[in-house]
Amino acid sequence: MRQSMTLIPTLREFPADADIKSHQLLLRAGYIRQTASGVYTYMPLAKRTLDNIEKIIREEMEKAGAAEVLMPALQPAELWQESGRWYSYGEELMRLHDRHGRDFALGATHEEVITSLVNDDVQSYKRLPLTLFQIQTKFRDEQRPRFGLLRGREFIMKDAYSFHTSAESLDEAYDKMYKAYTNIFNRCGLDFRAVLADSGAIGGKDTQEFMVLSDIGEDTIAFSDSSDYAANIEMAEVTRKYEKSSEAERALEKIATPDQKTIAEVSTFLNVQPENCIKSLVFKTDDEYVMILVRGDHEVNDIKVKNELNATIVELADHEETAALLNCSVGSLGPVGVPEKMKVYADHAVEAMVNAVCGANEEGFHLINVVPGRDFIVEKNADFRFIMEGDPSPDGEGTIRFARGIEVGHIFKLGTTYSDAMNAKYLDENGKSRSYIMGCYGIGVSRTLSAIAEQFNDENGLVWPSNIAPYHVHIVPVNMKDQAQVELADELYDLLKDNRFEVLLDDRAERPGVKFKDSDLIGLPIRITAGKKSSDGIVEVKVRKTGEMFEVEKTELLQLLQ
Ligand code: ATP
Ligand code: MG
Ligand code: MG
Ligand code: MG
Repeated sequence: MRQSMTLIPTLREFPADADIKSHQLLLRAGYIRQTASGVYTYMPLAKRTLDNIEKIIREEMEKAGAAEVLMPALQPAELWQESGRWYSYGEELMRLHDRHGRDFALGATHEEVITSLVNDDVQSYKRLPLTLFQIQTKFRDEQRPRFGLLRGREFIMKDAYSFHTSAESLDEAYDKMYKAYTNIFNRCGLDFRAVLADSGAIGGKDTQEFMVLSDIGEDTIAFSDSSDYAANIEMAEVTRKYEKSSEAERALEKIATPDQKTIAEVSTFLNVQPENCIKSLVFKTDDEYVMILVRGDHEVNDIKVKNELNATIVELADHEETAALLNCSVGSLGPVGVPEKMKVYADHAVEAMVNAVCGANEEGFHLINVVPGRDFIVEKNADFRFIMEGDPSPDGEGTIRFARGIEVGHIFKLGTTYSDAMNAKYLDENGKSRSYIMGCYGIGVSRTLSAIAEQFNDENGLVWPSNIAPYHVHIVPVNMKDQAQVELADELYDLLKDNRFEVLLDDRAERPGVKFKDSDLIGLPIRITAGKKSSDGIVEVKVRKTGEMFEVEKTELLQLLQ
């Protein structure tokens, strides 16, 4: 492709509203443009990059025995009403109606559509197992779309669904998908972990997430430093909503009185064991969380409160103290002294914490742990327990560490949740009607693009792995007025294309400085510069990743690149 014929609108300045590297670089290098909040156009370079990722996904899906379909994004409300998710999915589901007043949803996911489809067309056990997948646009009205493609409201997902007659058959498909996902993310060059997760709102039992390790990840994972054990500490996407609670306010008043209370009193008040009166209480009022630190006798050394055995002071922490205890900046605390991130965790964690820690916690307020990442994880099948960084791993091998992760993929054993709800059945060998046993498997394709950009960059721009890069080679004639340079660049462009290289030719009449900066920013693996020595048939080859440069005779170029 000649650069004059495509659109790569690079930016010199740093976009003000992009605060992570991948978002900044994808904007600056002209890969994406925002159309609305959480809604992006994939410019020509991003489109090619996505195609490369999708190619890898398609190959691995095919190997795993999945056939590709393309289902509609526009989905009749009736399907969602059948599964019940029309009522439970909440505001993330984009809803609309047609000119006749019929309700529709824009697909946030496709369990309903596929279950209904398979139910119509697969009546006999003889046609099972069956796995179908698609690569398609999804819509979710995220509360906080951010980080560019990482959390969009319109994004590209690969979603696969499998249908079975037995749990063993589902296990097999799940394992195949696990392998396919491992291959896909390895081929993308990503540093990732497969982690145990909680099945949350979608239902089902076994589920794992594929997490790209990154400090900007929104999830926290706990993993063993010497085995494969890894789990998401997010406690499931609890859909339960908390009402504004006068109970909570009263509880708050009661505990926040200047009188010091003993742990025994607090535990009586909360109806929990004294040893469970750990370092904090979080109350949900209106739409904020209010935190009260309880100084207790629990072994919680991460906030340095274990000294006062039975000293039992309950107090409202001021911002400085809270920040110091939580090891974060005062600026990151919200108006009531709760860190931004904690609010998110609190919401997810409340239910599980309440059940596991509080048992008979009173209606309207809840005891939860303010630093979930450090204190608990979910094990397989969601047995709940506290865990600290440095603890022995639950599998007995190694020590627990915590890291941040970006969820790029998620595999689930759904069981019969959807087929039961939607009355989707096949006939078994004895002519008996049974619910399909199902699995579902998602990959955030556009999120994966961003995650790769997040892991592959340097101070000058993007540094794509060669199988993901939009082109392999960038040919840059330095001076478009120099006939020898232009001719050599053209000659090499044709030569490389004839030899199955994907090539971008910078035929713009720009200053050399601009061309080189843009070239680094775009991040193709190899740059070939046709400069002053073009008349001698000599070009300069630069390896983007290492910065290595060497001069090469044009006759030797092909051999060098192959
Ligand atoms: P998250 O926890 O990040 O909100 P999710 O668990 O809601 O993701 P799934 O329902 O498991 O997402 O969807 C499958 C995959 O789709 C996810 O693993 C992720 O890679 C991708 N994905 C989900 N939401 C978004 C989004 N808003 N923007 C981009 N990709 C997304
Ligand atoms: Mg989500
Ligand atoms: Mg998730
Ligand atoms: Mg998920």
